[in-house]
Amino acid sequence: MERSGMSTTDVTRRRFLTIGGMAVAAGLTGARAGADPMARDPEAVIEPHIHDAASGRTSFKLSNLPYGFSELEPYIDSRTMEIHHGRHHAGYVRNLNGALEPHSNLQEKSIEDLLHDIPGLPEDIQTAVRNNGGGHYNHDLFWNVMSPDGGGKPEGSLSDAVDRDFGGFESLRDKFSGAAGTVFGSGWAWLIVKDDGHLAVTSTPNQDNPLMTGIADVTGTPILGLDVWEHAYYLHYQNRRADYIEAWWNVVNWTQVQNLYELAAG
Ligand code: MN
Repeated sequence: MERSGMSTTDVTRRRFLTIGGMAVAAGLTGARAGADPMARDPEAVIEPHIHDAASGRTSFKLSNLPYGFSELEPYIDSRTMEIHHGRHHAGYVRNLNGALEPHSNLQEKSIEDLLHDIPGLPEDIQTAVRNNGGGHYNHDLFWNVMSPDGGGKPEGSLSDAVDRDFGGFESLRDKFSGAAGTVFGSGWAWLIVKDDGHLAVTSTPNQDNPLMTGIADVTGTPILGLDVWEHAYYLHYQNRRADYIEAWWNVVNWTQVQNLYELAAG
C-alpha cells in the first residue's frame, strides 16, 4: 500500500484542502477518537500534485482518507474502503505517474489540465492518462464528498441552484440515482456545474469524467460523484447496486459539495 508519509503532527493545519489541485474550503469535522491510523487529518491539505525539490520532477500522490476506513459503515464497509483506496486508487496514481515519467514537460500540469485536453496529449499516453488520471481525480473527489457526518440535503446557495435547475432536492436525487443505476458496467454518476453556471446530472463510463472535453458527452465541473464500479460495493452489496446507491446518500458531505459548487459557479 502506498502511504503519503503525512502524519497528523507534520501536516499544515490550514482549513482548506485541495481536490485535484483545486483549493476547497474545508467543511469537515475535527479529528475523531479511535479513527483509523490511515485516516488523514480532516483539516490537512490534500496535495495530489507534489514537486520533488531535489530532482524537479513532479508526481501525483495518494492522499489518506479524511476519515477512517470503518467510519462510513454501515453504508460502505471497512474492507471495501481499504481495498478501494489502498489498491484501486493507489494503482491509478502509480500508473498515471508511470505514464507521465517519459514526458517531463507534462509533469508540472495539474490533473485538471491533463484531463481537460486528452486529445492534445502525446498519442502514446492518451489512454493511460484518460484511465489512470481520470481514476485519480475521480477518487480524490469521491473520498472528499463523503463523510461519516453526511446525509441530509443541500443548503444555502446550492439548495437554491438545485431548486432552480431540478425543481427540488427529491428530483435531483431521483435523477442522480437513476443515472447511477443505469450506467452499463463500470462508471460514475455526476452532479456538475456546466459552463453556463447551471447544474446538470450526467454519467460517464469507466474512469472518464465531465472534465474530459472531446470525450465526455456532457462537460462541466464535477461537484459530486458516485463510483458505481463493482469494486466500490460488491463485497457488501454483491449485485444490488440500487441498495448501495440508496445507502450512499447517507454519507454525502453536502458542506463539501457546497464548497465545490461555490468555487465552480464563481
Ligand atoms: Mn473506484
